[in-house]
Amino acid sequence: MDTEYDYLYKIVLIGDSGVGKSNILLRFTRNEFNKESKSTIGVEFSQKNLKIGEKTIRIQIWDTAGQDRFRAITSTYYRGAIGALLVYDICNHNSFDHIDRWLKELRDHVDPESVIVMLVGNKCDLEEKRAVRPEDALSFSQRNSMAFMETSALESTNIEQAFEKLVSLIYEETI
Ligand code: GDP
Ligand code: MG
Repeated sequence: MDTEYDYLYKIVLIGDSGVGKSNILLRFTRNEFNKESKSTIGVEFSQKNLKIGEKTIRIQIWDTAGQDRFRAITSTYYRGAIGALLVYDICNHNSFDHIDRWLKELRDHVDPESVIVMLVGNKCDLEEKRAVRPEDALSFSQRNSMAFMETSALESTNIEQAFEKLVSLIYEETI
């Protein structure tokens, strides 16, 4: 990886266990997918550089590595985060209902004024099992000042785009 960069952004992945956070990270950083429900990655964070215009931005993306039970995540995880991908599974309405709690937990740990949140509905390849309508997620995201996208880590749909969108929103907010 290039050692030179202009800005470093810490981004955290949050959301219920099983929604696909680790696979979103795996797809984005290594273009891989892991069918096992128990992820074997076990890393604290992965890094990747993105270009915005002339600037190189290094994003450091933190994954919960199995600690994604509500309230089990330590404050170290959140410390210094400037962005968050808040992930639910479009086939699991419970994971969507829990978004509120995750949002509150995030805002308890980081400056709510400065953290940028992107709502992500993952597993959009499983349309036949859909339990959350995109229009409901969109209106929820708008009420809570979040960007919104549906993704599939399995099929690589919108994974790059979700990170690029989040990073450009952070960039616009912080320059
Ligand atoms: P995490 O607990 O949020 O980190 O979720 P994981 O990344 O471990 O994924 C949980 C399960 O969902 C695994 O069996 C994955 O293979 C599966 N999964 C993750 N993303 C997708 C996706 O986009 N589509 C489908 N069909 N399955 C996915
Ligand atoms: Mg995981």
